[in-house]
Amino acid sequence: MGATQDRPHIVIVGGGIIGTAIAWQVAKRLGDQVSITLFEKGTIGTGSTVRSIGTVETQYLTPEDVRTRAVGMDELAALEKDRGPVIHRNGYLRIGRTGEARDLFTQSVEWQQECGVTSARVIDPDEIAARVPGIDTAGMTAGLFGDRDGFVDPKYLSELYADEARSHRASIHEHRPVDRVLTANGKVRGVILADGSEVPADVVVNAAGAWATRLNESFGLDVTVVGYRHQMATFEVPESYPDVPQAMDFLPGSGKAGVYFRKDRPTRLIVGLHDDFQDPTTASDPDHYNREVDKEMVERTVNRLREVAPGLTDQVTYTGGWAGLYPFTDSAEPEVREVDDSGFVLAVGFGGVGIQMSPWAGREVVQILRSKLGASAAAS
Ligand SMILES: Cc1cc2nc3c(=O)[nH]c(=O)nc-3n(C[C@H](O)[C@H](O)[C@H](O)COP(=O)(O)OP(=O)(O)OC[C@H]3O[C@@H](n4cnc5c(N)ncnc54)[C@H](O)[C@@H]3O)c2cc1C
Repeated sequence: MGATQDRPHIVIVGGGIIGTAIAWQVAKRLGDQVSITLFEKGTIGTGSTVRSIGTVETQYLTPEDVRTRAVGMDELAALEKDRGPVIHRNGYLRIGRTGEARDLFTQSVEWQQECGVTSARVIDPDEIAARVPGIDTAGMTAGLFGDRDGFVDPKYLSELYADEARSHRASIHEHRPVDRVLTANGKVRGVILADGSEVPADVVVNAAGAWATRLNESFGLDVTVVGYRHQMATFEVPESYPDVPQAMDFLPGSGKAGVYFRKDRPTRLIVGLHDDFQDPTTASDPDHYNREVDKEMVERTVNRLREVAPGLTDQVTYTGGWAGLYPFTDSAEPEVREVDDSGFVLAVGFGGVGIQMSPWAGREVVQILRSKLGASAAAS
């Protein structure tokens, strides 16, 4: 890797949870070997990140999905040692409705144990009922429960990552839009900012979320990222209703959206519908989309909540909600990779799981940089 300054210069475009996590991990692990600059066109954490509900958990159903989230939980636990509590650990409960789901849950517990997560277990419908008052367990076969899981404040976490990166000498700039990538002979040479200034770089990381397509195009790369609109509804709930685990009546890869709910404040319940596929009717322009919740979605959500937790639905009153974007590429899987040996690195397409996968994204970019920097970086 050639040096444009005294040390290789890494430019990160985008100050959402992914860009700031990359700045944090690269600065923490390679800060003495590279210089790091992050450009954010607005302010830190105000894209998809602030519109998320911040759930972080490891209750997944493939070894790879478990591993990537376990990396995230380990990194967040290390961050908490230095910076104080980050995760509100109310627990997470994935609901199963078939024998196959129960078997997968048993496997997940084993995969989690292999990754050092010892708190996950399979629970039966009676325990589900005891943990989530008001739930109707008819048709449920088992729950996959992690009591160390929970949720973060996603904007606060992105600001914390940025602070940590700064403390390891990264430069973080807000209100500095990047216009395009500069290249020569298929390799990155830097970026041009919207004000016309040129910033040399050896590596450019595209972490621009639902806006990432434009930067890819400027590099000549045909990877489109689309933002799919997702909504959250909020309800007032009695303070006496307990701080239940987040219940998720959705199985990854099932092709069906599922309802989830939890308390996120003493008297507020948040409820949404999650999926991991791209519904074309929700594809949205990240600069112009409806950030409010629709009446139709609230009705659908309340109907689903009533089916899953009728005894809870009777106690709540609708108060509002919001909408945000899940950024997806066509593959529907997050992509963290260098394009050939060009110095152009993608960190895009995190859909509805970017908060919990952000530490993993940072670690992946560290790996890419280590292989470019060579043996000296491998040891650090
Ligand atoms: C309703 C909802 C609930 C969700 N719940 C969860 C959850 O519980 N757990 C979870 O893990 N995930 C959740 N998500 C998903 C999560 O919010 C996203 O996956 C994540 O925020 C994506 O982060 P990002 O950094 O890629 O994008 P963003 O947060 O959008 O960041 C991209 C940044 O790049 C900046 N940018 C763009 N173009 C440029 C440019 N040219 N120059 C400079 N800066 C630029 C933007 O201003 C923006 O700040 C949820 C999402 C929604 C909408």
